[in-house]
Amino acid sequence: MILVTGGAGYVGSHTVMALLECGKEVIVFDSLELGHMEIIDALKKLGNLKFVKGNLKTLDDIRGVFLSNKNIEAVIHFAAYSRVEESVKNPQKYYYNNVYGTLNLLNAMLEFGVNKIVFSSTAATYGEPVYTPIDEKHPQQPINPYGMSKLMVEKIMDDYDKAYGLKSVRLRYFNVAGADSSARIGEWHDEETHLIPNILKATSDKTFKMFGTDYNTVDGTCVRDYINVEDLANAHIKALDYLNKGGETNYFNLGTKSGNSVKEVFAACEKVKGAHIPLDVCARRAGDPAILVADNSRAKEVLNWNPKNDLNYSINTAYEWEKVLETMV
Ligand code: UDP
Repeated sequence: MILVTGGAGYVGSHTVMALLECGKEVIVFDSLELGHMEIIDALKKLGNLKFVKGNLKTLDDIRGVFLSNKNIEAVIHFAAYSRVEESVKNPQKYYYNNVYGTLNLLNAMLEFGVNKIVFSSTAATYGEPVYTPIDEKHPQQPINPYGMSKLMVEKIMDDYDKAYGLKSVRLRYFNVAGADSSARIGEWHDEETHLIPNILKATSDKTFKMFGTDYNTVDGTCVRDYINVEDLANAHIKALDYLNKGGETNYFNLGTKSGNSVKEVFAACEKVKGAHIPLDVCARRAGDPAILVADNSRAKEVLNWNPKNDLNYSINTAYEWEKVLETMV
């Protein structure tokens, strides 16, 4: 059985779907503060899934999961807050949840003899890029508490490996995009901040706000590496296999090695929707680097991972999901 924390969230739920489709038994632990029960209900139809509502900040919540499920082989850990801007305003919330919460999880794993974990890390651990594309040797100098909280966990995992033999794979995501190809699940943030859903949700009353057109890039807008969520979910399965085969602690960038500007993404969304999307050009958003693109060679080589879905596929699936989501909220 695989324990997935944060399995009711965006990347977590797509990974649970991939695990169930591989015939794995899964237990999801989620506080449902940001995740949604409707997503769990959709996933339950696909295989052997147990759900436990709990909070990592409460040690007994997570200990209880290990106590009642003695067959947990490994953990995939998504549960975290992930808003950069909020983390700057409220670092306490981020360090308490993302770092302390993870410590409770790791300590429970040690207590119950579970020694394999796949961790949802981020490109935000690199900070302002020194060169592009970013490989895993790039300095890790986060510029906000969110990135720092994820980097701290990476460091803790290194020390827990040296001292206790806890093996981890840290997956550093670039920009995640898209939804399940059958629109059973998708990206669902009650307060959406991400580019693609914000473009797709735009109306004449709530126009899409393009943050900054004066960057030093092809067309003046920021360039990001959009990695499809199903490809990303698949990397977690590969990371688990890697650990199960005795792989050492490791870390990988997950992206496509190619970037798209905000204007390009906007144009692609208009094409998919087949309609003009109301747009306001705004000032830069604080803390956005001009270009973030992953060198994904290491994940390709070591995990034998090959992302196959392109940006248009991600936008198409995101749009189909948006239509479903509209009927649910
Ligand atoms: N962006 C934008 N309008 C939005 C949301 C995002 O122009 O409503 C831009 C943002 O400034 C950045 C890019 O889109 O350049 C990707 O932002 P997102 O929040 O999706 O991901 P991030 O790169 O911050 O992880």
